[in-house]
Amino acid sequence: MNQQQHVASGQPAESRRLPVSVGDHVWWLLLGGGLLLALVYVLLPYGEFASALYVAVSFMAALAIAVAVLWRRQLYRPVAWALIAGALGMATVGHAVWYWLDWQGREPFPSLADAYYLAVYPLFMAALWVLGRHRDYDDGALSDAMIVGVSAGVLGWAVLIAPYWDAPGLGMGQLIVSTAYPVADLILLPMILRLVFLQRTGIKAHLFLLLGMLAYLVADLFYAHGNLTGWYAPGGGTDGLWLVAYALFVAAVWHPSARIKPRSMVSSFELSSRRLYLLGMASIAVPAVILFTAGTDVEIVRIAALASIFLFLLIMQRMAGLIRQTREQAEALERLSNTDPLTGAGNRRFLDIALEREMASAERTGKPLSVAFVDLDHFKRFNDTHGHGAGDRLLEELASVWRDTLRPADTLARIGGEEFVVVMPNTAVGNGQIAVERLRALVPYGQTCSAGIAEVQPGEQADEFLERADQALYQAKGQGRNRSVIAERVLKPVSE
Ligand code: GH3
Ligand code: MG
Ligand code: MG
Repeated sequence: MNQQQHVASGQPAESRRLPVSVGDHVWWLLLGGGLLLALVYVLLPYGEFASALYVAVSFMAALAIAVAVLWRRQLYRPVAWALIAGALGMATVGHAVWYWLDWQGREPFPSLADAYYLAVYPLFMAALWVLGRHRDYDDGALSDAMIVGVSAGVLGWAVLIAPYWDAPGLGMGQLIVSTAYPVADLILLPMILRLVFLQRTGIKAHLFLLLGMLAYLVADLFYAHGNLTGWYAPGGGTDGLWLVAYALFVAAVWHPSARIKPRSMVSSFELSSRRLYLLGMASIAVPAVILFTAGTDVEIVRIAALASIFLFLLIMQRMAGLIRQTREQAEALERLSNTDPLTGAGNRRFLDIALEREMASAERTGKPLSVAFVDLDHFKRFNDTHGHGAGDRLLEELASVWRDTLRPADTLARIGGEEFVVVMPNTAVGNGQIAVERLRALVPYGQTCSAGIAEVQPGEQADEFLERADQALYQAKGQGRNRSVIAERVLKPVSE
């Protein structure tokens, strides 16, 4: 999978090793139990018992999340889950008020219950914001949510309010409160999509959260539609769907992956392109609503709506081009900052990065890793005799033939005037010396070089490792040049 190269650990989040703790298997019990209770509720005839069960299940869900927050250690961003527990607490109070009003034979919609129900959304939004927040940069999540929110508001208006505008028996309050639910859900949607899909974090807890939010959204839509058209009756599948959402939230917080710190598995450029697509769709929704709802007598409005859609598409295409250009520039800059301009070999920065990567890999796999320090012999003399330009050409040709000779996994870096380092993964020091001898035979213009080769030792730091190879090179020079020397296994103290 290409995308995984963006993960720092190189592995999907789920496989990162986690400390096992009590309660790691509780999540599926809680999920199963919650779904079962939802089913029981739907099957029960609507009445006092079913209502009491509903309030009790909601309360237990809030409690189960609160217990996870307090009891489970190393939960990632526990504040987010505490906010979700608070949201379910609000919903529980809402349910209690709703059923109480219903028993009393009073109209439960819209009512005080809706105030509690609507309080759920800001809490959900805060939770998602806390979960998806990045410390180091603002990725525009708020403006994204607002773009999608505005278009969701217009869509909600067009689909849910406008058709019932003149319907007798429906009050303004009813219309606005009904619409508030799906609109709030649609504002939530980009936040949760961002957490799960846009960044592909691979965290199951977040996937459960997404599924729970989706169940919540669908239930809200049914509720809004059912209230406006009159088919909604309590105790049915719509209410059951909310309980399903609660069960998924509980499973999410109890899932072991709720402890994982999310790390984006997509590059920021991929992210921008996908987000652009999502935002483009949201932006087109508004003129699309105008296009389909404007009467045929207002031709200019329809033409303007059509033109707006076209303009949005053009702007999207323009922005996609800008993103592509930025990516190309970033890649070019990355290449430049890692390359030695004269020879095209890696520079010191490139060496440091490669060495860190290869040392970590060698430690993980137990495979050998060697480095060689190579320095041209009497290069000053060569420059003095043939000119600096000839010296430059020698360096260029040298790097070119060496790169062709080395294996693709090897790294060649120029770290000083006429000094190179070769990093050779999966190579013991003996084979490293054979490789270096092959390189030494290829120095152009009859010139020679000296080399020191070292194999990484367990627990060794990068600077110690390089220092040993450098000491071996120093020995090779001392022994008369034009040779390679294998480094001591331990770093010798520098003698006075
Ligand atoms: P030794 O065998 O001890 O390494 O002798 P040396 O002359 O190679 O070593 P020294 O460090 O005394 O001199 C290095 C010379 O390399 C100095 C400079 O003339 C030359 N040099 C360094 N960078 C460049 C470069 O970019 N181009 C050219 N043409 N020469 C360079
Ligand atoms: Mg030299
Ligand atoms: Mg030198």
